[in-house]
Amino acid sequence: MNTKNSENLYNQALGFMPGGVNSPVRACGSVGSVPLFIDHTEGSKIYDVDGNCFIDYICSWGPNILGHSHPQVINAVIDTCKKGLTFGACHKGEIQLAQRIKRNVPSMEMLRLVNSGTEAVMSAIRAARGYTGRDKIVKFEGCYHGHSDGLLVKAGSGLLTNSIPNSAGVPKGYTDSTLLARYNNTQSVEALFEKYGNEIACVIVEPCAANMGVVPPKKGFLQFLRDITHKYNSLLIFDEVITGFRLGIGGAQGFYGIKPDLTTLGKIVGGGMPLAVYGGKKEIMECVAPLGSVYQAGTLSGNPVAVSAGIETLKILEENQEEIYSSLESKSSKIEQAMKKAGLNVNRTGSIMTVFFTDAKVTDYDTAQTSDTKAYARYFKYLQSNGIYTAPSQFEAMFVSYAHSDEDIEKTCQIISNFKK
Ligand SMILES: *Cc1c(COP(=O)(O)O)cnc(C)c1O
Repeated sequence: MNTKNSENLYNQALGFMPGGVNSPVRACGSVGSVPLFIDHTEGSKIYDVDGNCFIDYICSWGPNILGHSHPQVINAVIDTCKKGLTFGACHKGEIQLAQRIKRNVPSMEMLRLVNSGTEAVMSAIRAARGYTGRDKIVKFEGCYHGHSDGLLVKAGSGLLTNSIPNSAGVPKGYTDSTLLARYNNTQSVEALFEKYGNEIACVIVEPCAANMGVVPPKKGFLQFLRDITHKYNSLLIFDEVITGFRLGIGGAQGFYGIKPDLTTLGKIVGGGMPLAVYGGKKEIMECVAPLGSVYQAGTLSGNPVAVSAGIETLKILEENQEEIYSSLESKSSKIEQAMKKAGLNVNRTGSIMTVFFTDAKVTDYDTAQTSDTKAYARYFKYLQSNGIYTAPSQFEAMFVSYAHSDEDIEKTCQIISNFKK
């Protein structure tokens, strides 16, 4: 595979951006390869600047559930652009998008549009703290909720209550109120509530974890979180930035049948544009300014172009939901079967999945960490050299889109089943 042009651009980029990238995973550091510079995309395919074509299973890390550059979405964006790129004022699209979201995710009785998943989660937690008048939050090791200060902790070295920031530049004090629990482990949550129950504003969780690789919730785990937060009058936040409109039109909450108090959405909801959402019970959201005293604002929030991409994407998903989600399920299941045939250890929920290089059943952060990342790097390189574009990191998901054709899936299965561990 010729990657000369990418290498050349990467060397230039290194002079301008840390690591040559605007988001760290793109540097491909953990698999020891050069990042490909993308020229254009279409449907299931992504084309780099050297003219290589790949079947894309990163799908921009989730947003492209309909594939790349869906003509209806692109046209909606172009039409909106002609009216102006930003108003900094109210417009009809905001209501149309909110209606579509609320109709499919009814727990989001009232919501706010923001610009990124990070911002959505940060704001949802602020609302939860404002509403409950409590400071502490519970998060799970291995769950990612964006890069805001208080959430950059995952490994507590066994000392669940000693939250040490994982990033330099985060003052120790900023994570003092972040309590860590183990995913799929009810006792770890119970212990925190027994000790701090009346100080805990909320539990935030990825209802199906997808940022330590895909790790589905064990049966009863989400219901347990619902019950214990009720018992202590604290709130349950589902971070559905990945799972929203991915596991089904109703997101993970529809898929598992559990209703959180607050929800964050991102990725798919913006149809490929920078847009995210937080929302939930009306009485909680009424705490947000200008109605209430929880401050949150944004110059570009509700941006008309981003909103139009979101509306069009949700419209297509909603109008064709049976066809789209059953097709995603059957394509994803075929890939999973090919992986199993090749002797690979795979976790899958709907159209997201991850192959782990460990004999352990991966159910939480510790078991995910047992995966041999060097073996993953070999797997990544094997796929890439065969025209398949997947995450350059063990701890990410593979995303299947509606644009993947039967032919794409067949080819992918063939290549995966020929992989020698
Ligand atoms: C991607 C992601 C975020 C952060 O969203 P950004 O738009 O990258 O800021 C938050 N939570 C989850 C679950 C995510 O997958």
